Amino acid sequence: MAEPDFYLSDEQRELQRALREFVAKEITPIAAKCDAEERYPLEIFPKLGELGYLGLRFPEAAGGSGGSCLDYAILCEELAFGSAGIALGVYVHMALACAALEAFGSEALQKAWLPPALHGDKIGAWAFAEAGAGSDAGSIATRAVADGDDFVLNGSKLFITNGPIADFLVVVASTAPEQRLKGLSLFLVEKDRPGFRVAGSLSKLGVRASEMAELVFEDCRIPRDNLIGREHRGFLDSLRTLTLGRIASAAFATGVARAAFEATLRYAGERKQFGQPIGSFQAVRFGIADMATQIEASRLLCHRAAIAADQGHAHSREANMAKLFATEACTRIVERALHFHGAAGFMTESPIQRLYRDCKVFELGEGSSELQRDMIARELGL
Ligand SMILES: Cc1cc2nc3c(=O)[nH]c(=O)nc-3n(C[C@H](O)[C@H](O)[C@H](O)COP(=O)(O)OP(=O)(O)OC[C@H]3O[C@@H](n4cnc5c(N)ncnc54)[C@H](O)[C@@H]3O)c2cc1C
Repeated sequence: MAEPDFYLSDEQRELQRALREFVAKEITPIAAKCDAEERYPLEIFPKLGELGYLGLRFPEAAGGSGGSCLDYAILCEELAFGSAGIALGVYVHMALACAALEAFGSEALQKAWLPPALHGDKIGAWAFAEAGAGSDAGSIATRAVADGDDFVLNGSKLFITNGPIADFLVVVASTAPEQRLKGLSLFLVEKDRPGFRVAGSLSKLGVRASEMAELVFEDCRIPRDNLIGREHRGFLDSLRTLTLGRIASAAFATGVARAAFEATLRYAGERKQFGQPIGSFQAVRFGIADMATQIEASRLLCHRAAIAADQGHAHSREANMAKLFATEACTRIVERALHFHGAAGFMTESPIQRLYRDCKVFELGEGSSELQRDMIARELGL
């Protein structure tokens, strides 16, 4: 599995190699501790920024380092291989907050926020979900009411990754409630805006190295200049950004599955029962062969969607299929990995139990498996 994929360019293989080195040095050694302490290692942002990784796929003119969607998929897989929680924090910052800002933000907003964000000096969050609005974005109840040159925000957001550590948020709020989905707009809210507060941190089963909070807006006044994209259309426009998120989810799932697979392959060679390595038993051998095959399939679907995006083809169905397959495969693979580790995998100090807690989230976020199937069926004309 460590062999570079033949279709990658020399530059992409070098990117993959350098990222593996970075992850082995900076992420793997702290992954278990951050998970146990439910703490995001803030120093990762400037380190990734310094090396140009946070700016991947963003134009150089905007403070980014250029590159393709495929480069970005490579980055996501490698970060998640080290820690799904740390990868999630980077993802929300790059693929949701910064991507929305870069795609739809005014020149002034981009100039003020993108260079420091892509350098890792400022951290972003994406505030979409609410207690009453998860899969159903049209139910968003946070209101933004125009008042002179300002908007006044009222409402609350739930399950917001990076909420406790973010310097700025991209908030999805309703500017025309009767229009539901077609009445949602995006706003940049700085962390020190009066009327905004982090209501409390939330503790999670998995991806615990990422920090999550509930956010509250009470008569939070923000200038009209902080509107990102078109009024009433911001969210619909940003769905393009969410397609990128599905490619990222597929890459994360591939990275987590690969971590589980590599550990299992090693363990199957070392662990002896009945006088022989457990990897010599057919049930284990077949299980590991299935893992490897599903990882390859996940990566190929993910990379196909990324290449389609890079070549300017419609790629929504490809991204949905990649996300659906890779995230469900990841859950199956990690479950088998824990099974083949026996009791040793069940112990708190085992990295496998962390992967087991981490993997499920990818099937839930960025559109659950049911929503992916629904969209794929719709794209098939049903
Ligand atoms: C670790 C983590 C990090 C997150 N980070 C963020 C973040 O940074 N920003 C943010 O805005 N949100 C974030 N979220 C929230 C995420 O956006 C929501 O979990 C997601 O939108 C799903 O909403 P829900 O959890 O309310 O589930 P619901 O929408 O209530 O769904 C519950 C169940 O019903 C099913 N279901 C719903 N509708 C349908 C349907 N039409 N057909 C069939 N089945 C359906 C779903 O598949 C699911 O199984 C995060 C969540 C987690 C777990």
